[in-house]
Amino acid sequence: MGGGGTRTYTQEVPFDFSGFDFNDFAEGAGAAGRKGGGGGFRDIFSGIFGGHEAPMARPEPGEDLEYQVNAGFWQAIKGTEMQLTIPRRELCTNCHGQGFLERPGPCPECHGKGQITQKSGSMKFNVVCPRCGGSGKDRTVCPVCHGDGRVEHSDVLKVRIKAGTRDGQRIRLPGRGNAGTMGAPAGDLYIIVRVGEHPVFKREGDDIYLTVPATVSEAALGAKIEVPTIDGRALLKIPPGTQSGQKLRLREKGVPSAVKEGARGDEIVEIKLVPPKVSDERSKEILRELAKLNPEDPREELWKKV
Ligand SMILES: [Zn+2]
Ligand SMILES: [Zn+2]
Repeated sequence: MGGGGTRTYTQEVPFDFSGFDFNDFAEGAGAAGRKGGGGGFRDIFSGIFGGHEAPMARPEPGEDLEYQVNAGFWQAIKGTEMQLTIPRRELCTNCHGQGFLERPGPCPECHGKGQITQKSGSMKFNVVCPRCGGSGKDRTVCPVCHGDGRVEHSDVLKVRIKAGTRDGQRIRLPGRGNAGTMGAPAGDLYIIVRVGEHPVFKREGDDIYLTVPATVSEAALGAKIEVPTIDGRALLKIPPGTQSGQKLRLREKGVPSAVKEGARGDEIVEIKLVPPKVSDERSKEILRELAKLNPEDPREELWKKV
């Protein structure tokens, strides 16, 4: 709750390396490699023995990660720096991302051949050595990463939210996603910025919208009024005859652009007319007199349309 903002941690590619299905084996090696929708290619044998006895390391690029941060209304306008703790998979230092440890000499199970002979009834057939995964080398699964070549780790990152960042903007941090295995490249990290709201200013892109009340006299006669902007107060000229709901534009009083150097959005002020609350006789007299002097019917246009 609160603090640095809520975080949604998304793994775009599930860590599913257990998708082997014996039917695929029966159909042939071509189909097996794509089973399970896990990560990239892998051969059929690592599918059979993966994660059990045989080293299953294979080069696979790391997954992209997506992370959501909440920035306040002002933080996004002025820019800020956030410290984020991001769980990711990092290269296993115990096996240097290989997923296995190798001793000199041949595999003691298959004596370096990479295959062993199995019997099933009267039949004999060769299968890939479950101990070495077919390499013929004396390899054992890394006990730290269990063959994945990567371990869970929380990265502490400082991320700069540029001034003028918009809601939903993505910041790409190349190579900060999950590590790849066996030297394959790491994925990217995407930070998605959610920008908070303000009670008065409504932001749309680089423009700021707000509603400002004005008196009937100001609107009828024209006036210069003070209105709030994101930089403080500014003078707005209300032209004579301004209607309620009319929108007036203050050029370049919006948000400085995060993309285009020197560019700024506008502030769009909607005028809301507030009639005077009259209680004294003198004011009422003046308004009656005013009505007599201006007998036009404000509903004339309306009646023409129905
Ligand atoms: Zn390892
Ligand atoms: Zn072997």
